[in-house]
Amino acid sequence: MIDLHSHSSASDGSLDPAALAGLASARGLSTLALTDHDTVAGIPAARAAAAACGLRLVAGVEIELDFMPGEFHLLGLDLGRLDGALAAALARLGRAREERNGRIMGRIREAGIPATMEELRAIARGAGGVPRTEPRIGRPHFASLLVARRAARNRQDAFNRWLAKGRPFYEPKDCLPIAEAIALVKGAGGLAFVAHPLSLFVSWARLDALMDEWRALGIDGIEAWHPMAKAGECRRLEKLGRGKGFRISAGSDFHGDARPDRKLGRTAGGIPIADRYLDAIAR
Ligand code: AMP
Ligand code: ZN
Ligand code: FE
Ligand code: FE
Repeated sequence: MIDLHSHSSASDGSLDPAALAGLASARGLSTLALTDHDTVAGIPAARAAAAACGLRLVAGVEIELDFMPGEFHLLGLDLGRLDGALAAALARLGRAREERNGRIMGRIREAGIPATMEELRAIARGAGGVPRTEPRIGRPHFASLLVARRAARNRQDAFNRWLAKGRPFYEPKDCLPIAEAIALVKGAGGLAFVAHPLSLFVSWARLDALMDEWRALGIDGIEAWHPMAKAGECRRLEKLGRGKGFRISAGSDFHGDARPDRKLGRTAGGIPIADRYLDAIAR
């Protein structure tokens, strides 16, 4: 069993990178890709822990791109180097994200909820004294804050009422153009995959046409298997992707307790991810 999509506390997962690697090994995975949002900060600690338990750790990253109507996430897999232009661009996105967090907090306070950045950072660091690397703070943490402040019943309610696109506390995020993101991933020695293509929220006909554009732009593969889709849809994506000559990836998008429905090593329909999906990153 393997998993080519997971998040640690370096972004919005609940487990720190070393604990995540330990859990993957305990669950019987042979390979785990750590693909935190907009950061590779968790990779060294995950890699050290993975080495100690015989797990293969694949260095990765998940980068959000500008797209309408849905969400477009690019997965960089099997990165060879974690410094250089990719790291610099991610750092720049991190600074833009901090500015955006300030604007979101401004909206929340204007609405009469006296929340503070200190409170937000405490939520992002986690409770119970569990040591965590510095997380990239974003809307999932604001969702927890709004629940703690009783402005929402639960995190999903916080998104639906306040934080989703078009809702009162939404602020747009600086995103990289797709060509630049692909160039950064490849410049770091990685392979570029379109994550969970159904989140683009387009028709199958449009998806088919987009795949041709992605091929031309240098996208290496698509993540056909992801738990947001039904198994039948993933099979269809895999067939479509293979027909276009794409590599086919599969992941759980594990986030720990932050999203308890996601299980390490399991994808759509709770199906364990077979070792043959390692072909996605074969060189
Ligand atoms: P951010 O990068 O700060 O905009 O946060 C993006 C993250 O928020 C996504 O990766 C999801 O985990 C979560 N998210 C975005 N939209 C929604 C939504 N409508 N409902 C629940 N979670 C969402
Ligand atoms: Zn996430
Ligand atoms: Fe994603
Ligand atoms: Fe993800």
